[in-house]
Amino acid sequence: MKSIYDFSFDELKEVLKPLNAPRFRAEQIFTALHQGIPVAEITNLPKDLRVWLAQNFNCNLPEIVTVQTSRDGTKKYLLAYKRVENGDSKVNSTQNAENQGNVEHQTDLIECVLLSQNYGNTLCVSTQVGCRMGCRFCASGKNGLVRNLTAGEILAEVLLINRLNTTPAARGVTNIVLMGSGEPLDNYDNVMKFLRLVTAPNGINISARNISLSTSGLVPRIRQFAEENTQVNLCISLHAPNDELRQQIMPVAKRYSIAELVDAAKYYFEKTHRRVIFEYSLMMKDGVPFNCAVKQARELANLVRGFPAHVNLINLNPLHFDANAVLTPPTREIAMAFMDAVIKSGVSCTMRKNKGDDIDGACGQLRLRHMEQQG
Ligand code: SAH
Ligand code: SF4
Repeated sequence: MKSIYDFSFDELKEVLKPLNAPRFRAEQIFTALHQGIPVAEITNLPKDLRVWLAQNFNCNLPEIVTVQTSRDGTKKYLLAYKRVENGDSKVNSTQNAENQGNVEHQTDLIECVLLSQNYGNTLCVSTQVGCRMGCRFCASGKNGLVRNLTAGEILAEVLLINRLNTTPAARGVTNIVLMGSGEPLDNYDNVMKFLRLVTAPNGINISARNISLSTSGLVPRIRQFAEENTQVNLCISLHAPNDELRQQIMPVAKRYSIAELVDAAKYYFEKTHRRVIFEYSLMMKDGVPFNCAVKQARELANLVRGFPAHVNLINLNPLHFDANAVLTPPTREIAMAFMDAVIKSGVSCTMRKNKGDDIDGACGQLRLRHMEQQG
């Protein structure tokens, strides 16, 4: 059953046509949905219209399973989507084939994180249930991809969390980063539709410039995204200064070289004039710098110099489930020396704080811990 949140305003108007409802109904419904008001509570609609919507569409917002609040105010939500039926968002895999027939009992867990900054509140959303990219350091990819989220399901994360955090005195979600579970460009069409929905002027209307999309580096998709000509910020998870090292931690690096990736980043800049951000998580392996020695900082700077790019460093968030972890975060001294060397090599670079790291902070960790506890 199609989710009501998947509809653009124009599509909603089409859907309502057979009902001969007054023209303003579509606007009323769209606005209320984008305020995060559940269909049953849109009380300025006639009751029979609410019932009709509920009978014909999946009107569910995700359910909140847990909320963790960190010492620094970061809120991490574990959300559950109940699968209503065998929808077109499903991935064709043998794993999913086994689930045919009882999909209505399936619950998909995703997480999203709300970070408050002085300029607003940033929501980190998930774009897939799990992820198939298999990066070694990441909890989201540990059990592979379960399914893509639809555009409406990604949107509903934003609408729900925005409503819960909006008060007369405080704005809710002002910025969005696509940095939760999932590889956004591996769910390309749904993510593009999500971007159109979330920036719709008569909806929640978040400015594209306040949205960042992070990718592990699907080069052809980055080029395609550049062609869409949005003002969304592009972040590229680089994490290594050469192909050999990158291939050890990111399987996608075997498909696309760093040279191709940087070319695609430059193309993104040419098309959009938005500065590209390279994300780089600092890691030690077996107690020695894996990607965070000073000479690697210079190697990194050489790659991304010469066009408006910025390097965002973060310390690896160690995976709680991995007791024998070979990858660990570096000391503050090593991290600072790395950052200094990047800056001295002429590249803009900052260090991101590991916000919320007392609450399963990194991508996919809360979901994974929950799944393991449930057996
Ligand atoms: N799939 C996309 C977006 C989600 S991950 C991507 O990979 O870019 C968001 C960011 O968190 C990425 O840069 C990712 O590499 C990084 N990340 C994942 N697990 C991490 C960990 N344990 N410690 C530090 N950064 C991590
Ligand atoms: Fe997927 Fe990104 Fe995690 Fe890699 S880092 S497994 S691409 S979510």
